[in-house]
Amino acid sequence: MRNPSRLHLYPFLLFLALFSFAQISSAKVVKNIQQFDKAVATLKPGDKIVLANGTWKDVELVFKAKGLPDKPIELQAQTPGKVFITGQSNLSISGEHLVVSGLVFKDGYTPTGEVISFRTAIDELANNTRVTNVVIDNFSNPERQLSDLWVAIYGKNNRFDHNSLVNKRNRGVTLAVRLNTEASRENNHVIEYNYFGPRQILGANGGETLRIGTSHFSTEYSNTVVRKNFLDRVNGEHEIISNKSCGNVFRDNVIFESQGTLTMRHGHYTTVENNYFLGNRKPNTGGIRIINENQTVNNNYLYGLTGHRLRGALVIMNGVPNSPPNRYDPVVDSVMNNNIVIDSDYIQLGAGAGADEERSAPPTRSAIKNNIIMGKSNLDPITVFDDVSGIAFAGNIINDEAKVPAELQYGFKKVPYAVSKNKHGLLVPEQSLVDQIAFGEVKLPVTREETGASFYPKTEAGIAFQSGDSIAVKAGTDTLLSALDASNPGDILVLENGGEYLLTKFASIRHPITIKAASGDKPIIRSEKPSFIVIENGGALEVENLWFDGAESPDYKGNSVIRTSGYSMNINYSLSVRNVKVTDLDVNGFFYFFKATPGTFADYIEIIDSEFSNITGAILLLNKEVDDIGVYSVENLTISGNSFTDIKEEVASVYRGGTDESTFGPMVTVTDNTFTNIGKGSTHRSGASLYFHGVQKLFVSDSTWNKSAPLELYLTNGEPITVIKDVVMKDTGKIRANNDQYEAENITYK
Ligand code: CA
Repeated sequence: MRNPSRLHLYPFLLFLALFSFAQISSAKVVKNIQQFDKAVATLKPGDKIVLANGTWKDVELVFKAKGLPDKPIELQAQTPGKVFITGQSNLSISGEHLVVSGLVFKDGYTPTGEVISFRTAIDELANNTRVTNVVIDNFSNPERQLSDLWVAIYGKNNRFDHNSLVNKRNRGVTLAVRLNTEASRENNHVIEYNYFGPRQILGANGGETLRIGTSHFSTEYSNTVVRKNFLDRVNGEHEIISNKSCGNVFRDNVIFESQGTLTMRHGHYTTVENNYFLGNRKPNTGGIRIINENQTVNNNYLYGLTGHRLRGALVIMNGVPNSPPNRYDPVVDSVMNNNIVIDSDYIQLGAGAGADEERSAPPTRSAIKNNIIMGKSNLDPITVFDDVSGIAFAGNIINDEAKVPAELQYGFKKVPYAVSKNKHGLLVPEQSLVDQIAFGEVKLPVTREETGASFYPKTEAGIAFQSGDSIAVKAGTDTLLSALDASNPGDILVLENGGEYLLTKFASIRHPITIKAASGDKPIIRSEKPSFIVIENGGALEVENLWFDGAESPDYKGNSVIRTSGYSMNINYSLSVRNVKVTDLDVNGFFYFFKATPGTFADYIEIIDSEFSNITGAILLLNKEVDDIGVYSVENLTISGNSFTDIKEEVASVYRGGTDESTFGPMVTVTDNTFTNIGKGSTHRSGASLYFHGVQKLFVSDSTWNKSAPLELYLTNGEPITVIKDVVMKDTGKIRANNDQYEAENITYK
């Protein structure tokens, strides 16, 4: 018997076939830029361009089209995450009702100033456009000081969501909302559910993760909403978020272990609500900083923030009376209410007043009410820099042990310190207190997993020292070079105790590597090249229990044992030197132990428990960033437990010029050293045993100088913290400094 239902099915199948034919006709799979350009030229509402899976190298995609609200035009990856845009490439978009999704930008950088731009020309902007499920990963210019924006949003009513922006390594804001023409203002953009992944310390201004507006247009309204984003270790500079326009909302974001603050740098009527700042006691983690008028900071949760001064957990700045647009407007009609601050160190009011005499206008008509502040790590957490009678305090709760400045005590109630982990793993005060300020449930408003491109893993890029294999390296000529060539990231090259190693070529360090010997006689390393070891981009070096000697080095000026690449390095390196002996770097003049070249940056350099003698140059030359724009060479420098003898130049020369306030570093610690006959070479320019220019945080202690040139300080902008204590200087000149803004305690001259 015939199946009667077949007759009925037939028209349905026909309909299906027609329907899918219609779909295919509007979805154009393109395989190269020529096909792409051709397809773009004919787009109609409802069409789709599909980029074929694979690598698209050196392509500048210009996606210009006009969709309709119910028939957007889409630009898609054939498979999300399988279309890689590489080389010198970028994407610009203009028109209406467009959707871009599924692309991955990596292994390259933009030849222009933007990677993804919501415009194709100055007057061709994208409106009502969405970019989603897109990745930009280390698409960084190799010149670390060359600036670009990864995402520049122009136009109106655009949505940027579920994207992953990770590992930006060159200068320039990761995501910027631009207001440079009328058509980009009052834009109502929504930026949500994005994953802003790790961003290394830039060591200069221009490392912001998110910026809305610029000082030129800061009185304009942007009305951008930034919500439910996860910012993970974004350490570029001290402005994580730089708000520079009016009417923006930051709500329900998580800022995780990030060095810096959400700064209301310019513009008024900003709302900062229900954001979670999790510092976890990591260095320089900060919270929220108010500048300008009608700013509302409510219901935020701040935990474990250690940042000081301008980078505290809650900061209200002093302003400049009648401030020009690029300076600091006074704070007026602003509030910080109902926030929970746990185990965070600094709340700063009238901040910046001391550091800059122009910032003389204290906050007015403002309030700090109903906040809960619980902390034991700093029992004097609230600092008042100026007259704060313009801030009304009421209903704040603080733990018994904490000190409250006398003039603010009327607005605080003391309770016992009681903090416990709640079911969401967050440290909270007692529930009755949380209820008292009507904070609601203490729970992350968004998780890491909920943010970013769905297909892209949030893995760690960094490789730790000594995480790889131990490899024995025989003594001899160039055996160390062969071992380095064959090594993998994280490996440990173990030299023979007492062995002699000669290098006839540069030893290039291209990934993290450790070179060491077991305790016992140090192996001796000599080189016939002007530098023994060169740290190249991606490299990092740890040396332990070795002996470097200059006897085989060429008879020219300017040799070094270790230096950084001759090219710019956009990946930060580190250098650790422990229990090392360095002798007779004296075949000619200016022989350095370590020299940092311009355009390179160290997260840290440490010289520990080592001895250096008879050297015609400096031990650490970190003074080659000479443009006075706040650029420098090292974030954390530690010199501890060493003896230095007969060094013609400085043990360390660190230079950070200019008055820029965007960075935390350089931070320098010098403890437990002896300095004998240092800095007295006849051709030595600074005439100092140690020279620190513009160091932001300097601590020198428990060290002895003998017959040496003086320690010299050049204190620059803002608030460098400089402490010198418990040192003895025999037959050594007095400390030289350009001013007396440093603490000196127990300094003995003999
Ligand atoms: Ca900045």
